[in-house]
Formats: sequence, C-alpha cells, structure tokens
Amino acid sequence: TSGRRPLVAGNWKMNLTHLEAIALVQKIAFTLNEKELTAVEAAVLPPFVSIRGVQTLIDGDQLDVAYGAQDISVHDSGAYTGEVSGAMLAKLGCRYAVVGHSERREYHHEDDATVNAKAKAAFKNGIVPIVCVGEGLDVREADSQVEHCTAQLTAAMEGIPADQARNVVVAYEPVWAIGTGKTATPEDAQEVCGALRDKLTDLYSGDLADAVRIIYGGSVKPDNAAALAAQPDVDGSLVGGASLDGEQFAAICRFA
Ligand code: PEP
Repeated sequence: TSGRRPLVAGNWKMNLTHLEAIALVQKIAFTLNEKELTAVEAAVLPPFVSIRGVQTLIDGDQLDVAYGAQDISVHDSGAYTGEVSGAMLAKLGCRYAVVGHSERREYHHEDDATVNAKAKAAFKNGIVPIVCVGEGLDVREADSQVEHCTAQLTAAMEGIPADQARNVVVAYEPVWAIGTGKTATPEDAQEVCGALRDKLTDLYSGDLADAVRIIYGGSVKPDNAAALAAQPDVDGSLVGGASLDGEQFAAICRFA
C-alpha cells in the first residue's frame, strides 16, 4: 500500500547489562536473514550504557541492525547532571532517539513542550526522533483518543520544518496497552494511526504524510504482529517486553 519500509524498534527500557545487550543484538542479527533485514528495518534501543558496545558490534560485523537511545537531553551540554546530549548520541552513531515515551511523561513529568524540545534536539544532531503519543484508559473510555493523540502530535511537531519532519517516526502507543498484555485491536490501531497521518497532511502536506512511518506499540507479540502490520497506516511496531527475546523480536520483524 505504500513505499514505506516498516520499522520494528525494540525498546529495551531499563533491562540487560552491556554484555547481555551485545548477545541479544547478535541473536537478532543471526536469526534474521539478509532479505528479511532488507524488507524491514530492525532497530534496538538499549540503555545509554550499552550503546557503545552495540555500536562496536554492529560496525565491526557490519550488521544490518539500526540502534538508538531511549531518551535525549533538550540541552546541548553543560551542568545537567545525569543527562545525555544529542551530540553524544550522534557521535555513537545513533540513528534514533525515543521522545515522549509514556513512561517518561508519567514518571519524569515530561510535557508536550519538553517532547517538542527533545524532538528538535534530535533533529539538530541528525538523529531521528521516534515521537510517542498515546491516550490513557480514561481518554479511551471517553472515545477521545483521536483528538488526544493528534493534539500530542501537533504539539510535538511545533516549529519543526518540513525537511526535518519528513524523517520523523511517530509511535502510537495507547498507555493502557503498554506492558499490560492488552493490545489495541488492529482497527483501533488503524483508527489512530490513520488520524495521525491525516494530521501530518494538515500540518505539512499529503506528500510528507505519505513518507512518514507511523508505528504501533503496546504489547506487540509474534501472534498479533501480522494483523497490526496489515493495517494500511501501521508501518511497523515499537516493541517493549517482546524485544528482550531475540526469537520473538525476529518473529515480529518477519511479520512486519
Ligand atoms: C513500549 O513501552 O514501548 C511498549 C510497547 O511496551 P510493551 O511492548 O511491553 O507493551
């Protein structure tokens, strides 16, 4: 239905040591064959401390696996204890940085303005932000998910020019489906992903909206990945729990 290459990104969250990280990337790269890794872009998003090891492995063995970070600072450098800048991530070869994950929004009080600043920090350093949007259960029960998610996307893209925006990845992650085992139905995922694409048409252009990858996240497993991927506006997935298992992650990549 589109020329978009699906992206399956594994959000490892706060899991795995740097040694375990290397072993998992090896497992993924050797489970999937060249053809599969061409059809789908497979990406891993390890904790910061594992990125250097993952980079060394992927570069050294020329593995066709992308990688990125789970967060990025809004600042360039300076007195921001514990933060990691976009320049540092770019130097490590990160292709992606997740911004606005619901766990950051909830536990670190990141608001839409912060998500926007982080998306800008990523683009400034040549890193593609994976912008996460998604509604909580209350919003879903009020049937306001489309309004909620499109408003989050509008805020996240504020002031970002089209030449950068056309590379963005948008992740629709209903909060009630993250880590709960409850997956949105393929129709639910399509409803919001389609509305997000329409919003990109409003904000930019139809041509740009057609080029952007919009992925789904929330309890994606091998057994539901194919039905989600079959939706016209779902271009892959952001995978949490199942991304820690090389076989499961590879299977999700095959179904994308
Ligand atoms: C996530 O946190 O990005 C996620 C989708 O997690 P899970 O797959 O475990 O629901």
